[in-house]
Order: sequence, then C-alpha cells, then structure tokens
Amino acid sequence: MELNCEGCAGCCLDWRSIAEAPLDHEHRGPGEPLDDVYNFVPLTRDEVAQFVERGLGDVLRPRLWRVDEDTLGVVVDGVRLAAIDGRPAFFVGLRKTPKPVAPFGTEERWLDTCAFLDPETLQCRIHGGDLYPDECATYPSRNLDLDVETECERVEREFGGDRLLNDEPEGDNGPLLGPQAIGAKVFAYPQPEELSGIVARLSNDGLTATDRAAFVGVAAGSRPGSLAVDEDRAAAATADVLDADSWVGRAIEAWADAASEVGARASDPPSGDDVEVARGAPETPGWDALDES
Ligand code: SF4
Ligand code: SF4
Repeated sequence: MELNCEGCAGCCLDWRSIAEAPLDHEHRGPGEPLDDVYNFVPLTRDEVAQFVERGLGDVLRPRLWRVDEDTLGVVVDGVRLAAIDGRPAFFVGLRKTPKPVAPFGTEERWLDTCAFLDPETLQCRIHGGDLYPDECATYPSRNLDLDVETECERVEREFGGDRLLNDEPEGDNGPLLGPQAIGAKVFAYPQPEELSGIVARLSNDGLTATDRAAFVGVAAGSRPGSLAVDEDRAAAATADVLDADSWVGRAIEAWADAASEVGARASDPPSGDDVEVARGAPETPGWDALDES
C-alpha cells in the first residue's frame, strides 16, 4: 500500500459538502448510525483506556445504530437499536469539530474534522505516536482487503490526482465485527434503562459530557471476547472522562464557538496555532520536512 496524503486528509474530515457525488459509506456496523459523523474512527478497548489514562477522555464519543425488525436489537426511546443480548451495542471513536481547512486544493471552508487534525498542514497531530489509532495506521488496508472503495479513490474521483499509489493491502486489520470484536471494539451498554433521551441527543449532535463519559467508561471496563464489564474500572474511567480538561477538549469547544455554518467559506478564522498549539497541542512537521527525511 502506498499513498499520497499531502494536502488531502480525506479520511480525517467530512468533505461531503464540497463533493458533487453523494458520499455515504458509514456502513461498518450492524445498522444505520444514529449520528451523522463521516469517517468515524472506531477505537479498541485498549486504545480507549489509554486516551482516558492520558487525560484525553474528553475527545471520545460513542456511536450507536438503528436496526430493522429482523436484526437483534433493543428498543430505547421507541427506536430499535442494535444490541447484543439485550444491551445496546456501540463503538467509541474520536470527536470531530468544525475547523477552517482547504483540502484537495479547495478554498478554505469550515468542515467537520477530526479533533487531532492540524487544519493548516492537514497532518495528524498524533501520527506515529503511541496514541495513534490502529484504524488510522492501517487505513485503507481494511477496505482493500474487503474490496471496498477507499476514501483515497473517492478523492481521486472528485478532485483528480493520484492518491492510492499502490493498492496492495498490508498488515493484520483485526476484527471489526463478530464475536471476537465484542468487548474489544464493539461494546455493549449493560443498563439500557439508563439511556432515556439518548436517541435524540445522538441524532441532533447533542451528546452531553455525561453521556460520553458513561459510554467511554463501559468501553474501558469491558473485557475482550465477553459482555462482562468491570464495574470499578468502568466507574473510574467515567470519572476520569468527566474530570478531563485536555488541550483537545478545550480546542473542540473553541472551534465550535468560532465556526460559521459547515461548508461556509472561512473568512479570517483563528489559526490552528492559536486554538490548538497555544492550548498544548503537539505541532506537525509539515510536508517539506517529510520530503527531506
Ligand atoms: S487520529 Fe489522525 S489520522 Fe486518525 S482521523 Fe484523526 S487526524 Fe486523521
Ligand atoms: S484519503 Fe487516502 S490519500 Fe487521502 S489522507 Fe486519507 S489515506 Fe491519505
């Protein structure tokens, strides 16, 4: 697999508003996501726990799915949700927030991007570090394995250029669904009766910090290969998420306050240095530095 990622970040942001063809590929899961996040990055139990331990639990969020009558589910708020043994199933991934970005040589616009994307260089602030998600490190190898179109090819189709330079999959992409994934990448919320109102909040981008902390806690306390949840570990992780006050959590709020409507041209926006680096974000090297190395 060989990629040309300079000036792209198509897999890190939501570029539906600047694409001519409809983009709708968030199908990795048992049903239709309740949220409208594009390019959701599902994390493993160990990755979730590591973000929480580093004080970065405030960058995490859940994804749940609506399913039809023929799929195993449980009804919450009158909606049938994907479930495992009566417990709502969910992923935990990274939050997105609007940032002023100019991917693929376009004009600078407010687009929802991963909280870790440097909006100027379009490089990942945690690339190659120990928090760098396996899902990102191996992208788009899983798609190539499954013969599913990649984001790189969608970008090529819309904006031209060569992005996917070599389409040979590489590495072990691990289970995303199936029994091995339970408690490792797909989690199950043990008390559905606690979730009143969650469907509307997920659907309207209205998740509260308490909602996010509860799901992250269950994921961190899960035991891979089972539905068991270590209650002490889950409670500790939930408390840590509620206490978290990281640079990235604060930057998400600051971007949301500064942003215009998603897709709108960005006129004199604050810089990534002002919003993120000033709050403690690691800087990115830029593409010239990578070319020289
Ligand atoms: S963690 Fe980095 S590579 Fe992964 S989606 Fe976010 S910005 Fe992109
Ligand atoms: S969409 Fe493909 S080419 Fe673009 S940044 Fe992601 S992996 Fe790289």
